[in-house]
Amino acid sequence: MEGCIFCRIINKDIPARIVHEDDEILAFEDVNPKAPVHILIIPKEHIASLDDLPKDREPLLGRILTKARAIAAERGIAKSGYRIVLNTGPDSGQDVFHIHFHLLGGRGMAWPPG
Ligand code: AMP
Repeated sequence: MEGCIFCRIINKDIPARIVHEDDEILAFEDVNPKAPVHILIIPKEHIASLDDLPKDREPLLGRILTKARAIAAERGIAKSGYRIVLNTGPDSGQDVFHIHFHLLGGRGMAWPPG
C-alpha cells in the first residue's frame, strides 16, 4: 500500500535487516530495538491492524506465530522466554498501521506493560 513504511520494506524500496522471508511473511530487525532480540514479523499483504483482519485471513496469524516461535528458537531465547506483542489501535501505541507482531526477548520483562 502506498505510504506504508512496511510495504516499502516488503518491496525493498527501503532497507531492513531481514531475518526471514517467504511468499507471505517477512521478518526483520526492529530499527529501534527495545530488547536484545526485537524482531518484527509481518504479512506481506497489507492489513492495517488486527481490527482490520478479514475473517478468511485468520490462518495467517497462526503461521506468523509459528514463525515467531521458530525465530525465537534460532535466536536462543526459546528456553529463557520471550514476549510477542500485537499493538492494535491508538491506546496500544500502534504507530505503524500494517499489522505486525513484535518478538521480544533476551532480557527479563516487567508485567504489566506500560
Ligand atoms: P508499533 O508501535 O507497534 O506500531 O511498532 C512499530 C515498530 O516499528 C517500532 O518498534 C519501530 O521501531 C519499528 N519501525 C519503524 N520503522 C521501521 C523501519 N524502517 N525498520 C524497522 N523497524 C521499524
